[in-house]
Amino acid sequence: MLTILVTGGAGYIGSHTVLSLHKIGYNVIVLDNLVYGHSELIKDIPNVELIVGDINDATSLEKVFKNHNIEAVIHFAAYAYVGESVTDPNKYYRNNVVGTLTLLETMLKAGITKIVFSSTCATYGIPKILPIPESHPQIPINPYGMSKLMVEKILQDFDQAYGLKSVIFRYFNAAGADPNNQLGEDHQPETHLIPLVLLAALGQRDEVSIFGTDYPTPDGTCIRDYIHVSDLADAHVLGLEYLLTENESNVFNLGNGNGFSIKDVIETAKEVTGKNIPIKLSDRRPGDPAVLVGGSEKARQVLGWNPQYSSLHEMITHAWKWHQKRHILKGNIQIKLIDSLKLSAKVINKI
Ligand code: UDP
Repeated sequence: MLTILVTGGAGYIGSHTVLSLHKIGYNVIVLDNLVYGHSELIKDIPNVELIVGDINDATSLEKVFKNHNIEAVIHFAAYAYVGESVTDPNKYYRNNVVGTLTLLETMLKAGITKIVFSSTCATYGIPKILPIPESHPQIPINPYGMSKLMVEKILQDFDQAYGLKSVIFRYFNAAGADPNNQLGEDHQPETHLIPLVLLAALGQRDEVSIFGTDYPTPDGTCIRDYIHVSDLADAHVLGLEYLLTENESNVFNLGNGNGFSIKDVIETAKEVTGKNIPIKLSDRRPGDPAVLVGGSEKARQVLGWNPQYSSLHEMITHAWKWHQKRHILKGNIQIKLIDSLKLSAKVINKI
């Protein structure tokens, strides 16, 4: 059984990939600083060890590589809030670029020469051609996209100079949740459209803001290419196996090639949940291109990737099941917390 290190494996896409790796039969070491990740997402997956640590900490990384016989790395650990990257670019360049350099240096020192890297369609900037092919010019319009593009360039140079082989995935909009409802999305703070819509359906938010209604699209709202998180996870396993067998670097888009507007998402969520979702028309969010839709023919042909859950309805149905479960779970924890606080209050009163 091969052992794979997954950085950021307690996050949304990372945890689903850990589950897919486990199902195929890999041993998994997760390195996650738990700033945005959730240890409870992966604690019940067998043959998975969580190491709480940071990619910026070379000493810890060296220890991980020394103590485990790691075959390859899947690297998710990164900050990924576009808006925050504009207001705090240092955080993004330091963590996403410098942290990745630290990871790559320690990998090479340990003789590990294979990495699957999470990049993003945000490296393309404003699309000139739709659907966007992998050969599209990369001109990011925010520091998040730029930090990912910098790592892509570093990986190309490290291949030339040191023989480090990489599979780079440029994802479009990850959506949905594990179809068996074991895992799902939980960002703190939540900024993504589908979870916000579902939280509004659950009554945890008063409304959903639509950022911009004057885009040059049929209904005036932004169009995105939503791809099921479990399909993304499967692509990572295929990318890893490509690296292990072909030992060749490559880059792939991961999307469905179908675009849905914000209004489409809200309407579909209303159908799925049967709930009213109050909306608020708001200004455009800086850094949002009108349409982002990707061509993923290359991943299908070269990797044999075959996304299973391509309908928006299905993605939102899976996400809805997860959010309902999470909501009830969090509600119960809150009740227990309140109960234990009441208990302590009683004890204090007695004293
Ligand atoms: N969006 C929105 N309201 C929200 C959150 C997002 O209208 O509360 C829009 C956002 O401007 C973009 C689309 O929904 O056009 C998808 O945004 P998300 O943050 O989910 O993903 P991103 O495209 O930024 O990766």
